[in-house]
Amino acid sequence: MDANQIQQITDRISLNLTSKGVSPDKNSIFDKLSAYINDFGVVPAEAERKILSDLYRKYQIPEEQKPAPSYNAATEETTVSNLQEGDWVTVEVKIVSLTPPRSPAISQSGIAADGTGAIEFVTFAKSADLPVLEVGKWYRFESAVVDAFRGLLSLKLHSGTKVSEITEERCLVPASSAPLSTIKPGVVPCIRAKFIDEWELPSQNMAQNGLLADEGSRMKFIIWKSSGKEKLNLGSVYTIYYAVASEFNGRISIALDTAVWIEEDGSAMPSVPVREKIQKPAEPLPVTPIHELKAGYATVHAKFIEAWENRSERMLQCGLLGDETDRMKFVIWKDDIADPLELNKVYTIKNAKVDEYNGRLSLSLNRAEIIPEEGDLVLGRTLDTLEGNLVQIAKGSGLIRRCPVEGCGRVLSKQNLCPVHEIQMQYKNDLRIRGILDDGEKANSVLFNRELTEALSGMTLDEAVEVGTSTPLGAEEVQIRLMEKLGGRYLTCKGTWFNDLFIVQEAEFKQFDANEITVLMNQAGEGLGGEL
Ligand SMILES: [Zn+2]
Repeated sequence: MDANQIQQITDRISLNLTSKGVSPDKNSIFDKLSAYINDFGVVPAEAERKILSDLYRKYQIPEEQKPAPSYNAATEETTVSNLQEGDWVTVEVKIVSLTPPRSPAISQSGIAADGTGAIEFVTFAKSADLPVLEVGKWYRFESAVVDAFRGLLSLKLHSGTKVSEITEERCLVPASSAPLSTIKPGVVPCIRAKFIDEWELPSQNMAQNGLLADEGSRMKFIIWKSSGKEKLNLGSVYTIYYAVASEFNGRISIALDTAVWIEEDGSAMPSVPVREKIQKPAEPLPVTPIHELKAGYATVHAKFIEAWENRSERMLQCGLLGDETDRMKFVIWKDDIADPLELNKVYTIKNAKVDEYNGRLSLSLNRAEIIPEEGDLVLGRTLDTLEGNLVQIAKGSGLIRRCPVEGCGRVLSKQNLCPVHEIQMQYKNDLRIRGILDDGEKANSVLFNRELTEALSGMTLDEAVEVGTSTPLGAEEVQIRLMEKLGGRYLTCKGTWFNDLFIVQEAEFKQFDANEITVLMNQAGEGLGGEL
C-alpha cells in the first residue's frame, strides 16, 4: 500500500481522536499502519480498527462499540490457545514466521498463529508430500500433533497430517503488547520493550544478547546467529511479535529467532534508562574478592566448587566459583576455543565479564584469560550485619503456599495461583517473615526464611499449619501471633543484600548493655511525652 493511502487512514484516525479531545502522534500512527499493512499483511480496515482501539485504550476513551472479532471461527476445529500436549488437532493458522530448521530431520520450522495465540511448529523431512509453507499464508492443518519440550508446546506436522492452503482472504490482527512481567513460557504474541543493555557475546553461535526492559521489569533476550536476524539497536524501543519465552530455574528469558519487530526510537519509553556500555579493559585487572564484585569486568582468584547441569545445548559448562569471601555463578558458552574448568581446581581468571541480571551477578568466562593454579584455598562467605527494631511484619508473612514446580517456588495467591504455572493444588507450605527493620536511620526491608522464623517465634511450620487450619482467622492468625511475639523487638541480623532487600541468614535478639537501655528508655519516654 502506498504512502498516500496510509496517510489518508492516518488522517482519519487522527481526526477521530481529535473529536474525542486528544491530539495523537500522527507519525507514530503512520508507522504502525504501514508496519501492519505492509509488513504483516493486515487488511487496511482491520489495521485501522486495531490502532484506533489501542489508542482509545491508551487515552481511556470508552468505546461505543467493540471491534468485531476479526477471526471467523465457525468451523469445528480448535484454536491455538486451546492446544494441549498430546492432542491430535485440526487448526487453521497463518504462518507468521519461518526459522532455519535445527536438525536435518526437520524440513520447516517457525511460528503459526490464529486470532487466539501462536505456537511453534515443525514439519518433518520424512513427510515429503506436505506442501512447502509460506510466510503470510493461511493453512488448514488436519491431524497435527501437539508436543511439548520443557513446557514449550509445539505443533508437529507429520506424514499423516493433511495440509491445505486457505485461499480466501483472512486477516490476523496483531496482539496488543503484554508487560514483560506477565510473560509465560511459550510463544509470546507481543511485547513492547526497550533494548537497554548489550552484553558481550559469550558464544560465537550467538548474534546478540542483552536486556530488554519495559516500565515494570527487565528480561534477558538472545538472538542466535543461525536465525539470520538483524541485531537490535541499543536504546531503541521495539514492538516484538512471536518471540519464544523459556524458563529455567524460575527465570524467564526470550529468544528472538522466530520474532518480527517494529523499531521506534528510545524517546518512546523515556522513563526506561539505557545502561552505559562498559569497555573491556586492555590490561589485566588486579584480583577482586568475589564478595566485592560489581557489574563490569574483574579478575578473580577462585575455586570451581560446584558443577550445575547445563540448561542449553549451547552451554559448555556452568556452576559455582568460590573464594575466601563468597561464591558466584559462572557460565562458559560453547565456542571454538572454550575449555571447561576442572572441578575443585583453583584458577586465576583475568578480566572475566561480570553480568548483572535482576540484582544478581554472574561471571561469563569465554573471553577471560583462565590460568590454572596449584594448591587450594579456604572458602568463606562474608555476611553483612544489620541491627534494628522489627517495626513491621508485612503482608505475605507467616504461613504461605509455594508453587511446587521444580525451580519455581513462587508464592501462590489465595486461590493457589502461581503467576507462571497457573493453579497448583499440590502446594508446599512454608513459613517466612517479610518485615521492616528500622536501624535508626532507615527502614530496611528484611526477609527471614522458615528456619529463622521458627527459631525467633518459637512456632514451627507444623504448628503454624495447625493454627492456619484450626482457627477462624486461618493464616492471618499466624501473622498476628508473629507480630505479637516479634513486633518491636531489637534484632541483630547477618545476611546479604539483594537489591533493596536484606535476606537474613542469621538472627538473634539484641542484648543491650545497661547504658544502651537507659538511652532507649529515654527515647521511648520522649515518644510517650515523658510519662515513663
Ligand atoms: Zn510456579
